[in-house]
Amino acid sequence: MPNLHADLGPGVTALVTTRAGGVSTGPYATLDLARHVGDQAAYVATNRTILQGRVGAPVVYVNQVHGARVAVVPDETGEVPALDGQDADAIVTDRSGVGLAVMVADCLPVLLADAGARVVGAAHAGRRGLTAGVLPATVAAMRTLGARPGSIRAYVGPAICGRCYEVGHQVQSEVGAVVPEAVCPTARGTAGLDLAAGAVAQLAASGVTSVEVAGLCTVEDARFYSYRRDGVTGRFAGVVLLEPRDTPRLPD
Ligand SMILES: [Zn+2]
Repeated sequence: MPNLHADLGPGVTALVTTRAGGVSTGPYATLDLARHVGDQAAYVATNRTILQGRVGAPVVYVNQVHGARVAVVPDETGEVPALDGQDADAIVTDRSGVGLAVMVADCLPVLLADAGARVVGAAHAGRRGLTAGVLPATVAAMRTLGARPGSIRAYVGPAICGRCYEVGHQVQSEVGAVVPEAVCPTARGTAGLDLAAGAVAQLAASGVTSVEVAGLCTVEDARFYSYRRDGVTGRFAGVVLLEPRDTPRLPD
């Protein structure tokens, strides 16, 4: 299965890639989408083209820095903007025909859509992003484009789970001071973080309560890249797309 699909409403494509179906080799096998992890640039370019084919539209990426900045893809015709140079950890748009991608390997990919208002967003949320507030910032940016939190549906994709995500006590308390719902014990009984639980709580606090959680752990599920498990590895992606409205057909 090359992609997992989420239902965020009519006119919205939402998917998460797996390792399957690309051209990268070794620790990056096979659909590595990241330019910054040591994989061959030509392979990553081919993999991004493969993903574009699956999505059926150009896909934009940002330079993710574990912060809370949100990039906005403008609603305009013509060229798809290149966001690669922009430091951001979320992307939102009300423009159709552009896939918004976030890359992950244990961090959470969170995809959001208000299908009625035709506004979509994608966020990269690890412990630092959660603490920085990338999810409330994404919902706020979507509101600016006309989305209503009560109408937003969200998908919390595969990530390291709380049983696997061991952290130091200080890190756990730093995150817990902002997102107490993320605090949990690991399977070994040590200090852990449950990113998905933290994301659900933050989304709810922002008014987004229609949330589907994938419940898949990247460390335990070999279909996905996992930095914690493998160290040197690739990145998979969550992608959300506002599908173009049906365009009237001209007579032959
Ligand atoms: Zn796990």
